[in-house]
Amino acid sequence: MRIQTFDTTLRDGTQGEAISFSVDDKILIARKLDELGIDYIEGGWPGSNPKDREFFEQARGLRLQHAKLTAFGSTRYAKNPVEEDRNVRELLDAGTPCVTIFGKTWDFHVYRALGISEEENLAIIGETVRYLKDHGKEVVYDAEHFFDGYINNRDFALRTLEAAKKAGADVLCLCDTNGGTLPQYLAQIVADIRSKFDGVIGIHTHNDSDVAVANALAAIEKGASHVQGCLNAYGERCGNSNLASIIANLELKMGHTTIGPEKLQELTSVCRYIAELANLPLRKDQPYVGQSAFAHKGGIHVSAVLKDSATYEHISPAAVGNIQRVLVSELSGRSNVDYQLRQFGSLADRLNPDARRGLVDRIKQAEFEGYDLEAADGTFELFVRQSLQPKTDFFQVKDYEVQARSGRATARVTLGLPDGVHTAEATGHGPFNALDLCLRKCLDEFPGIRDVRLIDYKVRVLDSKEGTAAKVRVLIEWSDGTNSWSTVGVSDDVVEASWAAMLDAVRLELMRVSDVHVASSEKAVELRQ
Ligand SMILES: [Zn+2]
Repeated sequence: MRIQTFDTTLRDGTQGEAISFSVDDKILIARKLDELGIDYIEGGWPGSNPKDREFFEQARGLRLQHAKLTAFGSTRYAKNPVEEDRNVRELLDAGTPCVTIFGKTWDFHVYRALGISEEENLAIIGETVRYLKDHGKEVVYDAEHFFDGYINNRDFALRTLEAAKKAGADVLCLCDTNGGTLPQYLAQIVADIRSKFDGVIGIHTHNDSDVAVANALAAIEKGASHVQGCLNAYGERCGNSNLASIIANLELKMGHTTIGPEKLQELTSVCRYIAELANLPLRKDQPYVGQSAFAHKGGIHVSAVLKDSATYEHISPAAVGNIQRVLVSELSGRSNVDYQLRQFGSLADRLNPDARRGLVDRIKQAEFEGYDLEAADGTFELFVRQSLQPKTDFFQVKDYEVQARSGRATARVTLGLPDGVHTAEATGHGPFNALDLCLRKCLDEFPGIRDVRLIDYKVRVLDSKEGTAAKVRVLIEWSDGTNSWSTVGVSDDVVEASWAAMLDAVRLELMRVSDVHVASSEKAVELRQ
């Protein structure tokens, strides 16, 4: 069956504690959702704030290919005739083809929050929907607190839907506004509504009981054909239902059609794009689209996955545009390392079984000490090359020292090279810069390292309970203008950890340049992408 998708990242999603989108962000996201093939994009509540009003102003220039933009607002205020209600006028002024209005379903809210009678509430719903329909709008009627209202007073809840339906609402959307309903009860209620109303029934769920996606799917199972949510599950409190997971489940496991299999392959990149604009990391463990969604760490899993990925993967990652990853860690068996080694092509083929075993042991030990080789592809490659050529070392560090005072640092480095001992001194902007300058002076006979530049530098405390004596991990990204790679160092001294990562980067570059048999560094980078 064709299920309508309705994304409310730009309205309900912005209620999330960490979310703040500029008007420009919202325009970019709307465009992206349209490209993905979402049917409805709820842009905001024009009656509630100037930013949303400006969004709808700017959105007039958006040439959406597929999606319908919708403005959100409440039914008219009890005291206002509908044609004089400012909120309703703002909805019309937003200029969208579709309008979503929410009305009260729960008699408790009608008495307590609005302080009006049941009959008055029904009139408010009917008049507002009718007015919007008379102005040519497609109307999605959001029945707020529908499930709580139904459980409390089924008869009244049904009458509110009847009022909206009679007035011409195109979709009756049942909202679990407080997120407290469980799937088995929700399913029964949706089935009851389905049997009483024809036309499109919608579902809008929140994740307060951690079952928002399950609830949406249960509703669709019982005949709902319009589903609301947010692609990354942003939203008030514990968030809205995750529309990305819902879409993937409907398409891949329930035989329904939403955005179609081709667009589905863009799901991961669109979710990452939205997270980027939200300035939030995409949750690594986010189902389907997270970085860890198809990552394998345990050795037994990895060896099985390498034989047949279906052994430990519920779907093919490519179906949603994600990729399989095999992590190298202290839990690794040989299979993990084998998988990583494939990226090094012919370089890895040259490893004999003894060297391979030694490499696995070295990797496990390094991970145990806090190295993160998954992130440090350069250090991993250096390990591989060193296992291939255990006797090759271009230099040994004889000694190094560094002194820092008020923003300037002086370093002195002594290296043993094949032609003798080289010592260099330099002053830099900090200890790391001073050491870098010394290292380059000592190694000036190797032109290959001149182009190696630092791109990014990150420090992470590994055991924070040790306070300032804690071990730290330094991760540095380098580039030689063509390729980039990362190296890692671990120590309880940040300068020493940085120094170790720097030495790895330089050693790797020297080994790559010297390795005349293998044009592998380019090959490795190519394969890695
Ligand atoms: Zn909501």
